[in-house]
Amino acid sequence: MFLLVGTRTVRRNLPGSAPVRAHCAQCGLVSEMQPQTLREFFTLFLVPVIPISKARQIITCGRCGASYSPDYRGFTPGSSEDPDPTMTVLLCPSCSGKVQIPLRPDNAIRVTCPHCGDKFTVSINKS
Ligand SMILES: [Zn+2]
Ligand SMILES: [Zn+2]
Repeated sequence: MFLLVGTRTVRRNLPGSAPVRAHCAQCGLVSEMQPQTLREFFTLFLVPVIPISKARQIITCGRCGASYSPDYRGFTPGSSEDPDPTMTVLLCPSCSGKVQIPLRPDNAIRVTCPHCGDKFTVSINKS
């Protein structure tokens, strides 16, 4: 008897959820982000039969399929403005708030978080 087993990540739309409009960092466009769940399944003959992990919630870009954490709201929620190409956004190590910094600083730069006031240093490797 031949058994074909494996694992597979199953992606499902979150029931009762509405798409979120957000600016996708990957395709650079405002698009409908669909809340989804990802869950690892044990498969038998390519059919997912037994869940082997907890469901993880994500939101997925309707244009390019990029996935983000469910609290992702893009650069400018609900607006079609282009993000400033000379700036980039990173997360504050203390409060996880979004902080804008210049994209290509010549040296390490000192950043003060506008959310919690914490100061940290960022250095970007130039290639
Ligand atoms: Zn996208
Ligand atoms: Zn902070």
